Amino acid sequence: MNGARQTPVVPLEAGSGPDNPPCPACGEPLFGWVGERRGLGGAVSRCESCGLGVVGGPGSAEEALRELGRLDAGDGAFRIANRASVAASLGGAGWAGLAPGARYLFTVDAVQRLVAVRDQVVVGRRWAPAGGIAAMWQTVLNSVTFGHNVALGALGRAEAVPAEQRWQRRIDALISVVLAVPAMAIAAPLELCGAAVGRGAALSLRLQLL
Ligand SMILES: [Zn+2]
Repeated sequence: MNGARQTPVVPLEAGSGPDNPPCPACGEPLFGWVGERRGLGGAVSRCESCGLGVVGGPGSAEEALRELGRLDAGDGAFRIANRASVAASLGGAGWAGLAPGARYLFTVDAVQRLVAVRDQVVVGRRWAPAGGIAAMWQTVLNSVTFGHNVALGALGRAEAVPAEQRWQRRIDALISVVLAVPAMAIAAPLELCGAAVGRGAALSLRLQLL
C-alpha cells in the first residue's frame, strides 16, 4: 500500500492548484522539488512535463526568457546547466546547478517551448565536456560537504555557499582536497554516461529564427 502511494500515477492536470502553479514554459503544474535553504532565493519546484526548474514563485515566460538571455555565451550559443541531466537527478538538493542567484533551471525541452513564442527553434545542442564533468564532480562533492559548490568556488568557477560554522568550512576545505581525485573518478564516467544518453550536465544550445 505504501509503495503504491509513493508512486502515484495521475494525470498532471490533477495536480493543478494554488500550491502547484503553472510552469512558465509549458503551462503544466509545478511540483515541489528542493526545499528552501541558505543561498537559494526560495524553494525549488520543477515541471514534470518539460523539466523546467523554478526557484521561488513561477514568474512568467517573459521572465524565463530574460533569464535565458543571460546565459548567452556571446557566440550565439546558450550555456545551460541541464536540469534534465543525470547530475541533477542523482544530486537533487546537492546538484551543482542549484547555485546562488539561480532563478530558472532549464532543460532543452523547456527552452524549446519558451523560444517558440518568439518564433525560434533550438537547432543545435552540444554537450560541454569540461563544464559537464566539473558540474558532476562538484555535485558528488556536495553530497559530503556542509557548504555548497565549495570546490568550484575555490577554483573561481562558481559562486559557493560556504557552511555557516567555521569548523564546518574547515572540514569542507579538507574534504574538497582529500576527495577531489576520488570524486573525479566517480564523476567523469558518470557524466560520460549521462552525455551518451543525452543527459549531460552542461549543454550549449543554438537557436534560430523560423
Ligand atoms: Zn513545463
